[in-house]
Amino acid sequence: MKITRVEAMVLTCPLEKPIMDATYTLPHRSAVLVRVDTDEGLSGLGEAAYFGGPPMITKIIIEKELQEYLIGEDPLNIERLWEKMYQRSIKHGRKGAIIASMSGIDIALWDIKAKAAGMPLYQLLGGCHERIRAYASAGFYAEGKGIKELAEEMASYVKEGFTAVKMKIGRLGQSEDVARVRAVREAIGDNVDLLVDGNNAYTAYQAIKIARRMEEYNIFWFEEPVPAEDIEGSAAVAAAIDTPVAAGENEFTRYGFRDLFLSRAVDIAQPDVTWCGGITEAKKIAAMASAWNIICVPHSFSSAIALVANLHFSASIPNSLFQEFDRNYNPLREDLLTEPVKINKDGYIDLWDKPGLGVELDQAVVKRYRAD
Ligand SMILES: [Mg+2]
Repeated sequence: MKITRVEAMVLTCPLEKPIMDATYTLPHRSAVLVRVDTDEGLSGLGEAAYFGGPPMITKIIIEKELQEYLIGEDPLNIERLWEKMYQRSIKHGRKGAIIASMSGIDIALWDIKAKAAGMPLYQLLGGCHERIRAYASAGFYAEGKGIKELAEEMASYVKEGFTAVKMKIGRLGQSEDVARVRAVREAIGDNVDLLVDGNNAYTAYQAIKIARRMEEYNIFWFEEPVPAEDIEGSAAVAAAIDTPVAAGENEFTRYGFRDLFLSRAVDIAQPDVTWCGGITEAKKIAAMASAWNIICVPHSFSSAIALVANLHFSASIPNSLFQEFDRNYNPLREDLLTEPVKINKDGYIDLWDKPGLGVELDQAVVKRYRAD
């Protein structure tokens, strides 16, 4: 089998009301989908994260730079192709947009391989779980949205069947942080796991202080308390507080995660397969995490393809726990597949037994949001 074409598709949906975390404002929901075609009629689907830059840049990297290294190659030799893309792009790569672009291609290659094997991807990758507990990822800031609205929103996910929810803090000061967390804890009750995400907003000493103030609300994890570059600060926070520190959505490849683990900067690792180097690299990161007795809960905050790819990865590793399930408005997640992903009555997502990623794009929806 030979690769004949690598295509990137940019999908965009503007938001009427932008949503905000502690450090970032999101004016649109977009996605860069990747399709790899072969001479035997098999095609693979993937997604490359574009976060932090225009999605078109990611498309250009995939089609004008990386495609050239793949045409004529056997798509089943994924390790070789990963290494080829990494080494050829290394002078301007190693992190960021290049690795995210490689990630989308890598997922599509795994989709092809699993389809060729006639197996669901999570089983080809090792097969560990038939279902993964989902947490509702939301609780953002928005104009006109107060603490009361936030608490109602978070309680609505519990009503839908989620047994764990994640909310944002860090944008409006520590008194506001505590008031938000208190209101949400009261609204969801004591039996739901509550996760908080600081999106890199604090210094280490601020993070330690706010973590101690949140202690009485029983926080399941404190995500990204400090900037991703501040590995020592993250380690200081992790050592000082009882709440586990989760991070890694802003880290790339096994090399980046090695440094997090060596420094004991995280208690929970959050690679995203659309960003960290694909499934090939995420598997290595998870294996490395297990050697430090660290659980691995992939980040996912994009289209349905990103969600499904991260889910197959989660279901293939022994040290998984949750799947992040973004609940903010995004038709690229809810409408993109002919069969959308849903939680079951216990708040888990069941894996399915179709080969590869096992999903199909709704072409009318792709057409509606296509922006390239
Ligand atoms: Mg996060």
